[in-house]
Amino acid sequence: MKSAISLATVFCLVSASYLIWGPRPVEAWGTHGHEISARAAVLALPSAMPAFFRDAIDQLTYLNPEPDRWRDAREAALDPALDGAYSPGHYLDLERVPEGALDNDDRHGFARAVGDGAPPGFASYRMLELFQRLRLEFRLWRTEGDPRVRGWIEQRIVNDAGILGHYVTDAANPLHTTVHFDGWAGENPQGYATGRGIHARFETEFVGARLTLDDIVPLMDRSAEVWDDPRRDVLDHIHDSFELVEPLYRLDRDLPFDESTDSEPHRRFAAERLAAGALALRDAWWSAWVTSAP
Ligand SMILES: [Zn+2]
Repeated sequence: MKSAISLATVFCLVSASYLIWGPRPVEAWGTHGHEISARAAVLALPSAMPAFFRDAIDQLTYLNPEPDRWRDAREAALDPALDGAYSPGHYLDLERVPEGALDNDDRHGFARAVGDGAPPGFASYRMLELFQRLRLEFRLWRTEGDPRVRGWIEQRIVNDAGILGHYVTDAANPLHTTVHFDGWAGENPQGYATGRGIHARFETEFVGARLTLDDIVPLMDRSAEVWDDPRRDVLDHIHDSFELVEPLYRLDRDLPFDESTDSEPHRRFAAERLAAGALALRDAWWSAWVTSAP
């Protein structure tokens, strides 16, 4: 009985804090956008990618939204440790990053450089950490002689590659790179949408209703590229997305994104961003494999 009361109390406290501060929306693309991005990425892999990996297309598709499942509100109410640790991996508010902070070797140095307060996000480190895990797992797989162990390594590879996929596709959504992540913040001379809503209207409602795999595949017309400097390539991916924050808000001001929006410029914008995420993910997976060679 005692534990039931304390759990209920914890639930109320956490719920109250969510109401005061508001949960930060981190479900970039909703489940649908994540899944079609992952599927497009696997379909665009060179045939030289190991067959077990290309054959895992359904699993890699399923895993792409996985880190959003970890954000389960009921679990966070029971204990906020998981959500608190991993939520900042979904975004990087570039405007809040102090000069040179991203030059730190790892996320701990970055956090120290940023100082107190809510971190601007760990998206770049999260991607880099998972990319490195994937590369070293491929390296182990190349030399493992025991077929049983090789199978276990394959499972690790697919799981980590799937989770990496979430953060790479998240970063293709401009709203995951900015302080304007859900409504324009501060001075607003252009009259962009303020208050909560644009995040879900764009990535979940509009993309869910209007975009399919067939919108992305034709835009995947670039051959695979090997990341020669993964740290820089990850940041380039985030910066490319950041450049499109205002164009997204401009489109939304002229005709709001939602499930009923019927507009070719809106559809093209979303399709190009989903394809950018899928291309970056394809290149990340391919690079981890290629650069794992001795
Ligand atoms: Zn996310």
